Amino acid sequence: MRYDDSPPSPESASSVSPDRRWFTRRSGLAVGAAVLAPTLLAGWVLVQLTTGAGADDARPPRIVMPAAAPSPTPSSSAAPAAPATPQAKGPLAGKTVVIDPGHNTGNFKHTSEIDKKVDIGTNRKECDTTGTTTNAGYMEAEFTLDVSRRLRTVLEAKGVKVVLTHEANRAWGPCIDERARIGNEAAADAVVSVHADGVSSGNRGYHIILPAKVKGGAADTAKIVGPSRDLGERIGSNFARTTGSAPANYLGSGTGLVVRDDLGGLNLSTRPKVFIECGNMRDAKDAALLTSPEWRQKAAQGIADGIVGFLGG
Ligand code: ZN
Repeated sequence: MRYDDSPPSPESASSVSPDRRWFTRRSGLAVGAAVLAPTLLAGWVLVQLTTGAGADDARPPRIVMPAAAPSPTPSSSAAPAAPATPQAKGPLAGKTVVIDPGHNTGNFKHTSEIDKKVDIGTNRKECDTTGTTTNAGYMEAEFTLDVSRRLRTVLEAKGVKVVLTHEANRAWGPCIDERARIGNEAAADAVVSVHADGVSSGNRGYHIILPAKVKGGAADTAKIVGPSRDLGERIGSNFARTTGSAPANYLGSGTGLVVRDDLGGLNLSTRPKVFIECGNMRDAKDAALLTSPEWRQKAAQGIADGIVGFLGG
């Protein structure tokens, strides 16, 4: 289609890499420990803040006096606590969310690979697709990765362990069956596949795609239909609130919710999962939103708020 003559948009802002955030946080802790170490008295205990701090929170360790009669609990060890691992803090620590950035910017160069059929249980379907673009050439795959990274940052601040199915680390794919498998193998508490639609101009708004009840081969969605609807409704209402966007005017009867039985990424999932189509890249008004970094931040916040509500945070 038009991918070969469509240079990447300069607006494809990316967030700070996890490695860099981790380095910054570790550096803060190391400096704090170096300053404090000479003044530590025997019997003083370093205690890591374990609640109420986001993953990006770089507060130094808190120093407390031990009780007169030390408690026998393991946490009262006299040794300084080791730095917490990333994403170990926050109200949703222990939860895992898999975010699936739809498509891949390299798919259009690997059409023979992505056209190969894979088993989705109920059927066989192409490994992946190229996705759409705005009329100016901003690729859906750029959009989905950018929103996914922003979403990860918001969720990690709540203590969630976040896994992306891919992150500009492979030439094409993953295939739709692998995207589902990543969520399943992570035992994700929620999975969200991020997309934007590519339909004719005048069609506007967002919609959430929910898994239908299907059974066939490796596909059996009976257990995820209910929780996935809950997840999808929460994401939809929060997305509408943060972005100001309306439910799609071209499907879903104004609910912003659509049930589908033909998507391998949903059919093969054993974890609560939805797709979100954030808007229509082929509509000029929606495209103006989708290409705005500020709007994408609102989109990520809305999706995150829906997930957080679903997870009980
Ligand atoms: Zn898509």
